[in-house]
Amino acid sequence: MSLDLLSPYLVDVPRPIIGAKTVQIVIFREVLDYTVLRTEETRELNTVVTPLSVSRSEDVRRVAFLGTKQKAVESRELERMLRTAGEEAGRGELNCHLKDKLCLNCPRCALFGGTNVDSASEKIANIKHRIEYGTAFSLLPFEEIEEAITFNAIDDQTQKTGQALGTRYAVRPSTVFPSIVTLKSVTERELILALKTLLAAKNYGAETRIGGDIRNTIVGIAGGWEEIITPLELTLELYDRREELSGEAVAEILKKYQVYAGNPLKTKVLTPEEVDKVVKEAASMLLNKEFLDRAYADVAEYRKQQKG
Ligand SMILES: [Zn+2]
Repeated sequence: MSLDLLSPYLVDVPRPIIGAKTVQIVIFREVLDYTVLRTEETRELNTVVTPLSVSRSEDVRRVAFLGTKQKAVESRELERMLRTAGEEAGRGELNCHLKDKLCLNCPRCALFGGTNVDSASEKIANIKHRIEYGTAFSLLPFEEIEEAITFNAIDDQTQKTGQALGTRYAVRPSTVFPSIVTLKSVTERELILALKTLLAAKNYGAETRIGGDIRNTIVGIAGGWEEIITPLELTLELYDRREELSGEAVAEILKKYQVYAGNPLKTKVLTPEEVDKVVKEAASMLLNKEFLDRAYADVAEYRKQQKG
């Protein structure tokens, strides 16, 4: 199995106290529809000033796709996947609710973390996340990807379309956000769930009701005892290679940063062919009763260690 390539960076069972084993998944998040990426308070696109690229230091503004926003959508996607897979496998209903009551017993809670209060003992229980999101920066500067769009304003109270036309700034279709999701001390099953979730998640605009369709393509994977590259470095490197966006370009960039790692001999950059094989293997893995039983047993073991 190609997934075995990553076994030096995976653990057998998830534990409350984690070590250094790290898997970085590099993703191109490609916008397929006009998409508003903004903070809740403002109607502006979220932008930040960055250098243009690694080779050109002049300042430009880029659109930021916040890590918290990526995480919220993908956490929900995994919950839905587990809910349906669990029902189909005859495990019964998943009693985990993202807004009000996290169960802390399912693979979503184990990976994304969470807090709840046990109603009987009133004790606070907590799971620390082992999936990490960084803010992604648009490949191209703001001016090249933004567009003012008019829309029928929707009344937040009634959910009905009002008469007033609003204007918002959105990013255009085909805008690319190079992005990284980092897994810390996860099991092979958790890696599979994370890859499936990234492939399945497609709508990031639920809160704004405008566009938000995004396709995630997994273009690189690196293992190590640390993160070897950050999302901003990735965007600045890729800008210089924007005419040849490919798995090969990503692998070359990862190899360049591998040298600067604290433990370079403990890092591995998968080739584009290996990345494709790993992704295919994860996608074709069935979330059947056997897989789910083992994944839930892992969480039970984690919780037992926490209490013991
Ligand atoms: Zn849960």
